[in-house]
Amino acid sequence: MVKQKKLRKLKKLKDYSLDENTRAKKKKARKGWIISLLITLILIFALSDLILARLVFPRQTDDLTPGIKCESELLNKTDVFMVIPFYNKLSLTRNMSWCKQILSMNKILGMHGVYHTYKEFNETRNESYIKKGMEEFKKCFGFYPKIFEAPQLVLNDENK
Ligand SMILES: [Zn+2]
Repeated sequence: MVKQKKLRKLKKLKDYSLDENTRAKKKKARKGWIISLLITLILIFALSDLILARLVFPRQTDDLTPGIKCESELLNKTDVFMVIPFYNKLSLTRNMSWCKQILSMNKILGMHGVYHTYKEFNETRNESYIKKGMEEFKKCFGFYPKIFEAPQLVLNDENK
């Protein structure tokens, strides 16, 4: 009799411990599920952030000019092309097929410097200097540039 009681008690203990085990396993599974949900949420937020950033700050290609070769794969990935009107004193209109090719890619086009010399706009440039670049741009693409960026992003106060 005593032995049976002891056995039963042992069995009960065992059952209880099993129950604890499965409970712990379930708890762990729930925890894992919550963690994976959190990771998914974070990923979604990060991705939407990237998409937003791309909308607000479109990626651009600088230094676009017939004299500088650029991989078309790289060009396809960017939204804004910054074009140099007279790189190495060579004008855009010397290569009209290049102008047509760039235009056919349907990107936002801006003017990047005029001659793109080092810190070109650190010296004060007059209106006709910039106008010359804008006219060349227009001859190439058929419209004036609406965006301008100075080489090395240097502009002295008078040029602003
Ligand atoms: Zn540049």
